[in-house]
Amino acid sequence: MAMDASEETLRRAMSDKQAAVDAQGNTVRDLKASGAAKADIDAAVEALNALKLEKSSIEKQLQATITGGSDVGTLSRDAFRQAVGNTLERRLFYIPSFKIYRGVAGLYDYGPPGCAVKANVLAFWRQHFVLEENMLEVDCPCVTPEVVLKASGHVEKFTDLMVKDEKTGTCYRADHLLKDFCKEKLEKDLNMDAEKAAELKQILAILDDLSAEELGAKIKKYGIVAPDTKNPLSDPYPFNLMFQTSIGPSGLIPGYMRPETAQGIFVNFKDLYYFNGNKLPFAAAQIGQAFRNEISPRQGLLRVREFTLAEIEHFVDPEDKSHPKFGDIAHLEFLMFPRTEQTSGQSAKRMCLGDAVYEGIVNNQTLGYFIGRVYLFLTQLGIDKERLRFRQHLANEMAHYAADCWDAEIECSYGWIECVGIADRSAYDLRAHSEKSGVPLVAHEKFSEPKEVEKVVIAPVKKELGLAFKGNQKNVVEALEVMDEKEAMEMKSILESKGEVEFHVCTLGKVVTIKKSMVTISKEKKKEHQRTFTPSVIEPSFGIGRIIYCLFEHSFYTRPSKAGDEQLNVFRFPSLVAPIKCTVFPLVQNQQYEEVAKQISLSLTAAGISHKIDITGTSIGKRYARTDELGVPLAITVDSTSSVTIRERDSKDQIRVSVEAVASVVKEVTDGSSTWTDVSWRFPAHSHVSIDE
Ligand code: AMP
Repeated sequence: MAMDASEETLRRAMSDKQAAVDAQGNTVRDLKASGAAKADIDAAVEALNALKLEKSSIEKQLQATITGGSDVGTLSRDAFRQAVGNTLERRLFYIPSFKIYRGVAGLYDYGPPGCAVKANVLAFWRQHFVLEENMLEVDCPCVTPEVVLKASGHVEKFTDLMVKDEKTGTCYRADHLLKDFCKEKLEKDLNMDAEKAAELKQILAILDDLSAEELGAKIKKYGIVAPDTKNPLSDPYPFNLMFQTSIGPSGLIPGYMRPETAQGIFVNFKDLYYFNGNKLPFAAAQIGQAFRNEISPRQGLLRVREFTLAEIEHFVDPEDKSHPKFGDIAHLEFLMFPRTEQTSGQSAKRMCLGDAVYEGIVNNQTLGYFIGRVYLFLTQLGIDKERLRFRQHLANEMAHYAADCWDAEIECSYGWIECVGIADRSAYDLRAHSEKSGVPLVAHEKFSEPKEVEKVVIAPVKKELGLAFKGNQKNVVEALEVMDEKEAMEMKSILESKGEVEFHVCTLGKVVTIKKSMVTISKEKKKEHQRTFTPSVIEPSFGIGRIIYCLFEHSFYTRPSKAGDEQLNVFRFPSLVAPIKCTVFPLVQNQQYEEVAKQISLSLTAAGISHKIDITGTSIGKRYARTDELGVPLAITVDSTSSVTIRERDSKDQIRVSVEAVASVVKEVTDGSSTWTDVSWRFPAHSHVSIDE
């Protein structure tokens, strides 16, 4: 990735200024050594100090550019993260799992308010995607037989590169060590020259693409050692992230805990297609746990070893990726970060989604449609529009079969985090499972009248293949037979020009050489009543835990207590995600008020509003602070037997409403049919603010 223009300019200015400081320093030394006049020495020292001052000013600007902004320095970011984290743990939004046994890295429990937020996020996901788009929801097992994950490529390729501390055996993710090294150097070594900085930035840009050998060479080049002990590190080697298990008591059926939910949908494609009346496009969806044995989980809830994924597989004709509802979202404008902007060192820019698809920046309408729907989903949950961007994968980041990929990235105190991946995976997954299972996972388009078509005919020469591949002959034959027309014609042309071609056989997990004598590929004219093809799949994949964590950060703020002696924490969750919608407080402990509170609780229950009564004797101000910390939007205070007050969390404004009307007013506001401002007009304001507040 090229350097940001201003960063590059500032780095150059820094090294120029450093050179000037060094030269002036030499001048001062020479003057002193030669016994020059005091006035001359003083003037030279003054010039040196002026240069140092200029350098320090450039240094400050550079620091601000690197840390991503004006006053958001590293310290305040850490302090903010700590304040959010403390509140979340203290109020049991989440709990490190197995805490009394000192926990296990990368495993977290959701406590009561966390569970409620998660349930609300998932309910909205079902509403926004499954219901509104008529998706077919499935629920498949987490334990998955090996054959499925061999076909998908996970057994062979779902790896990260690992290095070990050569003395203690502690494991680290090799790319993380290199990434941390580059980032720290870039942030802290402000005297680094622009070329060196560009080199480190380039490494950050291609990190995902480095082979074990390349990573190892860079680790050696920069002298990177084990962060905890400073011991030397081993060479990097691949570590498969799947948790392995066996199914049944014999231990003979190998299996894995699924690393994603998508495969459960792909293997059911044939039945789902039939269920959908043999019609395309359609989408299937699944919410469930995914398991990844991360080498070094870090960043709290963002990189864990078990997490909830919500995935959609939208199956579409590869020859028609238009979307009938694209017009509904084409007008949306938000931050997009296309490939070209990334490689030319520019920043994300506000773009109209319709234009991005029209100009071919986003590969097709269906992919664009999901980008728009994901934007609406995240912002309606409460994610800040200004800290959400859609970043296109660079060519080297994408799997070779993918047509285009965009990540919804949300900025939080850890930087920009990938929370949703939206990928056009072409026909790869269905093809891989067709090949391995022998069950054709294909769709048909019936013609209104038969068409004369030219069909490609692939005829493997089994004798030659048998001689060349022996026991693997069957796999090679099958892989040749399932090639689509484009692949087959490409193979034909290479065979004709070069006599042989490299060919990837999924089921063998390797590339073999096919010679001209091993297969004949020709075209024949035929009358056809239908077209058979493997659908493309467009896959939005949501990391629910990451979205929730970013939502926590985007919703968190502090405000001074009335007395000004402490900072109170507030989560400004929209009602949609708030763990409970309202609390009910009798102002003072007396039986009459408690009776009214119970009566209100019954009417809230009848209206389907989640709520909690707090009859503790603590002051009303403390009770307000407690519910603000849980992000509860409304609080009802019972201060008479006929009418009560409703307080809105963020404005702290209160209105007075009759006991009979209170549940319906709360319902209106929390289900979004009225805003707080709407109801504030209809009811008298309650100006008496409790002494505690
Ligand atoms: P992937 O299949 O790697 O593209 O992951 C899909 C989504 O899962 C990502 O966009 C993340 O939001 C989420 N995700 C991936 N790995 C983890 C992890 N270790 N912990 C939490 N969420 C994750």
